[in-house]
Amino acid sequence: MNLLLFGPPGSGKGTQADFLTREYGIPQISTGDILRDDVKRGTELGLKAREFMNRGELVPDEVMVEMIRERITRPDCAGGFLLDGFPRTVPQAEALDGMLETIGQRIDRLLYLHVELEELVERLTGRWVCPRCARSYHMVNNRPQDDMKCNVDRTGLVHRDDDTEQTARRRAEVFYQRTYPILAFYRQRGISVEVDGQGSIAEVRERVKRALQGQTGEAA
Ligand code: ADP
Ligand code: ADP
Repeated sequence: MNLLLFGPPGSGKGTQADFLTREYGIPQISTGDILRDDVKRGTELGLKAREFMNRGELVPDEVMVEMIRERITRPDCAGGFLLDGFPRTVPQAEALDGMLETIGQRIDRLLYLHVELEELVERLTGRWVCPRCARSYHMVNNRPQDDMKCNVDRTGLVHRDDDTEQTARRRAEVFYQRTYPILAFYRQRGISVEVDGQGSIAEVRERVKRALQGQTGEAA
């Protein structure tokens, strides 16, 4: 299963990715997590990406396409993968298509998590993440068991530099301008499913499960 998790920043992609990777036994490829790791390590890519990320703008397509090419051709992706945060522009979607074709693969399903703007801003400004395993928490909606530590590896949680209200609003705007249009690209193929991303994490998980089993979920 090659699955594409789609939705604006804060829609719950990373949160829902957790059970999907276990359910399907596929790796999660989060371009945001890869970029943040490069920024932390101070690599050439990290230095290039940092300014774009802090402003809530997209990192240039050519950088992202090369990153994905290198990642999805690794052996752990041979049995499928879950993309989170890529593609984010029409050229990225086209490049992905081309590279999958050369290895005899394709995207099987796009799952769109729909969440309203004010809810996104509230989620992003209250988000805390584990710098080690990248799991997300929320100070109201999804608190860690032990204050400010990751439930899984006990690392101290951090607030992302780009999870300020201003940058969150800019990122949502960038999503609707530059990323949302690629939905049409996948709709045409009849592989997109839209899920209401509002409600509790468990409720959304149930909707995602049902949508992927093809029992319900409004065809997008
Ligand atoms: P994305 O990967 O799409 O940017 P995340 O999965 O990191 O989004 O979720 C953004 C924030 O919202 C996190 O703080 C997370 O704990 C919280 N969150 C995720 N799903 C829900 C939900 N269904 N209801 C309320 N808060 C949620
Ligand atoms: P969220 O899911 O909360 O929006 P991500 O972690 O996916 O955030 O991305 C954080 C930032 O990393 C984006 O605002 C952007 O600057 C950069 N980024 C991640 N993926 C891409 C991509 N596919 N194309 C361009 N920029 C990207």
